Amino acid sequence: MSTTPPGSGTLSVWAGEDSYLAEGATQVPVVHSVSFGYPDVDTWLEVAQGRQLGHIYSRNTNPTVQAFEEKVRQLEGAEAATSFATGMAAISNTLFTLLAPGDRVVSVKDTYGGTNKLFLEFLPRLRVDVALCDTTDHTAIEASIAQGCTVLYLESPTNPTLKVVDLARLIRAAHEVGALAVVDNTFATPINQNPLALGADLVLHSATKFLGGHADALGGVACGSAALVNRIFHYREITGATLDAMAAYLLLRGMKTLHLRIRQQNESALRIARFLQAHPAVSKVFYPGLPDDEGHAIASRQMRGYGGVLSFMLKGGFEAVRKVLPALQYAHLAANLGAVETVVGPPATTSHVESTPAEREAMGIPEGLVRYAVGIEDTDDLIADLAQALEQL
Ligand SMILES: *Cc1c(COP(=O)(O)O)cnc(C)c1O
Repeated sequence: MSTTPPGSGTLSVWAGEDSYLAEGATQVPVVHSVSFGYPDVDTWLEVAQGRQLGHIYSRNTNPTVQAFEEKVRQLEGAEAATSFATGMAAISNTLFTLLAPGDRVVSVKDTYGGTNKLFLEFLPRLRVDVALCDTTDHTAIEASIAQGCTVLYLESPTNPTLKVVDLARLIRAAHEVGALAVVDNTFATPINQNPLALGADLVLHSATKFLGGHADALGGVACGSAALVNRIFHYREITGATLDAMAAYLLLRGMKTLHLRIRQQNESALRIARFLQAHPAVSKVFYPGLPDDEGHAIASRQMRGYGGVLSFMLKGGFEAVRKVLPALQYAHLAANLGAVETVVGPPATTSHVESTPAEREAMGIPEGLVRYAVGIEDTDDLIADLAQALEQL
């Protein structure tokens, strides 16, 4: 047997698949069963009390769901993983597990819109003190962490302005005050970035996006130490934000091509960012792969690729956005990203649909911004499509 650890491509294909095969089936079976039967009460008790492996009830654990968790666990290099019905369920269940009244959480202004709502609306209601710092002001974030906190919550690159935060640096600051560091790795994916290797305690994903990759299943996942993941799992089995077996299967199947999709999306996004940057109708492009991007140096240190999402501003503002988007032939105008098809939209209708215009402004999200989530189409076709759509102006 080879002693070299398998690469992320091999793990995308094989991880989590082997131990769940039934009757020689080469693909993970979709186990729709709600409950699992036992021949006698003693065996059942052994499983119920965790002394023997097995499943009792699918709100808690399910074989198909477990295979999905195992694939992500291995790709993130984690000790344990637990899954959720959606990315927001992963984020909210994690934060509600870790935080109690009187605690303080430090994060950044640029988190995903739903996460930002947790920080602004739901956590303060539980008397959790939330400090949202300027995303790229590392000194200010460190100063806020130094005041003491229970959780440091980060996202990098951010949605939708692709800001990059220095994960290792801020995680170190969190650990100095005894805080746990949680990172939403949805945009980077485990192919481009592994926050646990940079010191994070927990890594979260909206599996709905790049992991699944086909825009046909919702899901979320949290990875980290067994001790932490077990606490979050326990909270989730009670709140019931469980991933469905069919969705788990679709995510598993999608993940088999994760490395190929990400490779293509990394390459296309960089070429498209360069094209847009040179285009006279475009006033600014946000993409950490561009050498003059504010986050380029940090991204080059902590990422293996810059990801499949970029955003840009048109000189004509929101009126120009209105004209250009419907003219695109190869893009869904929709609130999603990370799919095989290119998906495009303004933050007001996508990532930050939950936010008010004032909240978006406070987060530094211009109304004339377009988020362009590159699919796996031929790069030349996407560039030609953007060129003809920009001709409309
Ligand atoms: C979409 C998204 C989420 C939320 O995921 P859902 O699966 O839609 O609940 C969280 N974080 C980021 C960065 C996202 O893009």
